[in-house]
Amino acid sequence: MLTTEEMCRKFRALGLKVTPQRRFIFQVLEGNPHHPSAEAVYAEVRAFIPEISLATVYNTLRELVDLGELRELNLGDGKSHYDPDLSNHQHLVCVRCHAVADVTCDIGGLTLTPEQSRGYRLLGTDVTFYGLCPACQQQADWPGQALHLWGVSPAA
Ligand SMILES: [Zn+2]
Ligand SMILES: [Zn+2]
Repeated sequence: MLTTEEMCRKFRALGLKVTPQRRFIFQVLEGNPHHPSAEAVYAEVRAFIPEISLATVYNTLRELVDLGELRELNLGDGKSHYDPDLSNHQHLVCVRCHAVADVTCDIGGLTLTPEQSRGYRLLGTDVTFYGLCPACQQQADWPGQALHLWGVSPAA
């Protein structure tokens, strides 16, 4: 993602308004390594700008995703998460506590045959690694009921 000042210039150049709320959202996202949800961004901005609405946060995040300045991620907790780091990297996600870490590995050979791609022009792939973090492996409620979704037998 661009810096806050560059993003303000880009928004103005596109005829989009740069309000103090939007500027603060850019600031919260700039260099943010935590892959926050919209709700987490909202909580952080609201501490400084109490009158901001969740709708403003959603709309601004949507605009940033549409402009290609922000990656939208599914970490399996039912919310979208946002990553301003546009470098080529993958994510390692805990299926129990939804902790997320950046990882870089070579997935360059992953593609579809012409039959499999059904006439789509392929743009890229999005690989997520799911697992149990070290802390969650110690919890009594695991192995959980959903492990078969990952091809793991519950007795394992
Ligand atoms: Zn965990
Ligand atoms: Zn990331």
